[in-house]
Amino acid sequence: MGDTKAPETIAASTGIAGENAFGAVAPPIYLSSTFAFEGFGRPGKFDYSRTDNPSRAMLANTLANLEGGSGAVVTASGLAALDLVLSRLDSDQLVLAPHDCYAGTARLLDARQGRDDLAVDYVDQTDDKAVQRALREGPAMILVETPSNPLMRVVDIEKIAEIAHERGAKLVVDNTFLSPALQRPLLLGADFVIHSTTKFLNGHSDVLGGAAIAKNADDAAALAHWANVTGVVGAPFDAYMTLRGIRTLFPRLERQQRTAGAIALFLQNHPAVARVYYPGLPDHAGHEIAARQQRGFGAMLSFELQGGREAARRFVAALKLFTLAESLGGIESLIAHPKTMTHSYLDAQTMEASGISDGLLRLSVGLENENDLVGDLIKAFAALGW
Ligand SMILES: *Cc1c(COP(=O)(O)O)cnc(C)c1O
Repeated sequence: MGDTKAPETIAASTGIAGENAFGAVAPPIYLSSTFAFEGFGRPGKFDYSRTDNPSRAMLANTLANLEGGSGAVVTASGLAALDLVLSRLDSDQLVLAPHDCYAGTARLLDARQGRDDLAVDYVDQTDDKAVQRALREGPAMILVETPSNPLMRVVDIEKIAEIAHERGAKLVVDNTFLSPALQRPLLLGADFVIHSTTKFLNGHSDVLGGAAIAKNADDAAALAHWANVTGVVGAPFDAYMTLRGIRTLFPRLERQQRTAGAIALFLQNHPAVARVYYPGLPDHAGHEIAARQQRGFGAMLSFELQGGREAARRFVAALKLFTLAESLGGIESLIAHPKTMTHSYLDAQTMEASGISDGLLRLSVGLENENDLVGDLIKAFAALGW
């Protein structure tokens, strides 16, 4: 840890040419579940893969370095990483979560609350007054997703970290939508970062995984301890694949966000589109904060199509390059209808409050050619008579 190389170099070079037995340039995968002791009462660096494993450790160290943390735990999914961080709470302690958070996150928080493992309160974190009101309840943890899913609301991490710390609360940032290539919350004051590595970090839609990264060493040790107790850790093969994905994280995101920016502009100027939600657009409510705290505006955006659900259904059916699917962050472009897909868990009132409407569509922009993607959208608009 404490790597001083540039993040691009850390991403591209981790594990390269570090193997001594044969001089392998690409790091091998250590699938072994167990490791020989050096002698009686003398375990080696690794003894059992639930506790630690060389492939998983390599990924964990890379993520801790990229995020600027003191340690990381690699888990079997993003939600397992969140649950691991939530295990720091006692049953009477409160989490303040965003009212428009990832629906799986809301489901986990609600389920934990239902079992009296914690208490949760949802609040619009872009509304200062609402945050101040919620703070009076004395939360032990504040969970932030920025930009949020699917409406790309931006929360000022530095500001909310200061408020959290004044009240003795820990700040957790779900950095899945940007990855450390574009945002490093621990350097802005957060105590924990969580990831669904399933998304941009792996980037190829072929691994399910997660990670929890802690800023200070005590928190990192506590997470590692609990991960060993409960066994929520990720598999070595998945760690190997995710590291492979991370080597191209920076150029992937650079290209994907450039194309996303072009698509956002195209959509903004299209008469069939009522609104575009992309922090790179100067009229986006969070544009200035995003420009300050992010290194780029990312490859995710959403937009409101005129004509509601039926228009959305026909639009999606006419697309050829954008695949209708949940998830995001892969090399392929995806489109999702949050109301009936990713966010269908939320009740009608919550959906309305967070702005998830019938005509809202979310795009995860991939590595295809920009003109081909815009052309695909043009054809789909034409199918609706535009
Ligand atoms: C996908 C996602 C998760 C959950 O991750 P899994 O790997 O599916 O468990 C959490 N937060 C955000 C923002 C996500 O997009």
